[in-house]
Amino acid sequence: MNVLFLGPPGAGKGTVAQKIKDEMGLIHLSTGDMLRAQIAAGSELGLAAKAFMDDGKLVPDEVIIGMVADKLREVGNNVLFDGFPRTVNQAVELDSITNLDKVIYLDITLDVVKRRICSRRTCKRCGRVFGSDCTTSNCHLCGGELYTRDDDNEATVEKRFNEYALKTSPLIEYYDKQGKLRKLDGDQSIDAVVVQAREALA
Ligand code: AMP
Repeated sequence: MNVLFLGPPGAGKGTVAQKIKDEMGLIHLSTGDMLRAQIAAGSELGLAAKAFMDDGKLVPDEVIIGMVADKLREVGNNVLFDGFPRTVNQAVELDSITNLDKVIYLDITLDVVKRRICSRRTCKRCGRVFGSDCTTSNCHLCGGELYTRDDDNEATVEKRFNEYALKTSPLIEYYDKQGKLRKLDGDQSIDAVVVQAREALA
């Protein structure tokens, strides 16, 4: 089974994915994590992507599609896509490479997104995300350093949300027409979303 978590930045896609991927036997494929790994490695792709990411813009389709196609050749099926596709063009390309079985859409309001993103920290080593209730400086799961992502600030969040509204939200209709979409209320607690995501994927 291949699954997509769809929703604006800060909707909790990565956090929910981390919590359910193992029990569902899914490989978590986050294009944001892949791009940050490229930046950390100082690769050409990472350098090209960083300017777009810091500006809250989407990285061009051709860069992203090539990166994902390479990864899919390596991992095959049973993938939980997080943050890809983000444009209709990417969705059409994905349909030509593999089949998505279910799409979980996390519907969330801008106010909740801003509050979540501006107070969250991410583990440098494993990519897990922690909210304001976490007060330690290291990840309690792998010991990695927790940091605030360069693009997790109010000005960039607004731009990322606008990019989402313009380029990514048409995917809601795209997958609804394919009969694959299941909408969940992303304003709920992460734990409540996890319960519903489990039910939707059962
Ligand atoms: P994320 O970690 O999913 O919030 O992604 C962080 C940033 O990486 C986004 O704001 C984009 O700049 C870039 N990015 C991640 N996935 C994609 C994608 N599928 N298409 C274009 N840009 C992407």
